[in-house]
Amino acid sequence: MSVRVVARIRPLLEKELDKDVIVSADRVEDGKPLTIVKIPNPKKPEEEFSFAFNSVYDQSTTQEALFTAEVAPHMKALFQGYDVTIFAYGVTGTGKTHTMRGGLKLAERGVIPRLLSNIIRRGKKITKDTNGETTVDVALSYYEIYNDKVYDLLEPPEKRTPLGLPLREKDGKTYVVGLTERACEDLKDFERLYIEANNNRVTAATKLNAHSSRSHAILRVKVTQTTAETIRESTVSAIDLAGSEDNRRTDNGKERLVESAAINKSLFVLSQCVDAISRGDKRIPYRESKMTRILSLGQNNGITVMILNLAPIRSYHLDTLSSLNVSSRAKRIEVREIENEVVYKQPPRSTSFGLGGNNVIRQPL
Ligand code: ADP
Ligand code: MG
Repeated sequence: MSVRVVARIRPLLEKELDKDVIVSADRVEDGKPLTIVKIPNPKKPEEEFSFAFNSVYDQSTTQEALFTAEVAPHMKALFQGYDVTIFAYGVTGTGKTHTMRGGLKLAERGVIPRLLSNIIRRGKKITKDTNGETTVDVALSYYEIYNDKVYDLLEPPEKRTPLGLPLREKDGKTYVVGLTERACEDLKDFERLYIEANNNRVTAATKLNAHSSRSHAILRVKVTQTTAETIRESTVSAIDLAGSEDNRRTDNGKERLVESAAINKSLFVLSQCVDAISRGDKRIPYRESKMTRILSLGQNNGITVMILNLAPIRSYHLDTLSSLNVSSRAKRIEVREIENEVVYKQPPRSTSFGLGGNNVIRQPL
């Protein structure tokens, strides 16, 4: 199956009401769903570019509608053992954090809190339906990649080491070594951990907005289903990427240059990976930045949804175009969908089940 790439156009903000709207959603023909984003050619304003996506969400789309259409359908697969990756890509100020985290009010909650509430509800139902034979454990990790270094957001900022946490490869997957994992039994646990972690991000930063738009934030939810005989593990990663604008255009302080180089490199490598995969190349340069290693786009066994966030106004024109270019190419990425195998604590009666596979815990036999 291919990666699902969808675009979400945010509404005008209060302060933008008098601005020139240049981005619009369209359909192939009447009666069909919205799948096209239109934007003028900056060099020839009378000409319009069209970009096709799997789906396009216009400014009237609620948080609930987006979750129901793009995330909820993959929750069943998650519990069947598939890994799910959802990431928000786009220029700073286009709605990535709004989409992933959202606001505090119930209706404004974003993908992440809805995801957790869905997973916890499903987990409880499975335990109930199996009369307690299957237990479901949910654990959270939350980290950011800043200047190509990985920092644990579930740890207080003073525990950060300057070099960050190392990555390691195992069974074809990339792991962050030493990352904290916290059990999450109910939504209250989640809210406490998540708010605390977001505060860690803030405390560690000198300038809140500048910092958050320059780092990639990755929430990883691990779901473990255990019966008397088996353990099955799968994960959802929800990623709020750094802003895709060219930071070099606006800033020239030394610190900023280091940051910009790291962000631009990781997002550049991301776009290189996207190109390589869509051309069908054998070699995907995903190892060239930490973010793409962790994302391992195209190497990943599972389901990937890329949400391209767009602001509709002219001041974003060039950055919007470049983000449209990158993500409309990503649509052609083929992903092998491989279920994480169930691991038997006892040798299975039938030998047709292979042991091992990806992402599995081996229990001593
Ligand atoms: P980013 O994380 O991409 O930099 P934000 O999520 O911070 O962007 O969004 C920028 C501003 O736009 C914020 O004030 C946010 O509340 C608002 N916003 C973004 N998307 C929407 C939306 N779909 N509906 C209402 N407001 C939105
Ligand atoms: Mg943001």
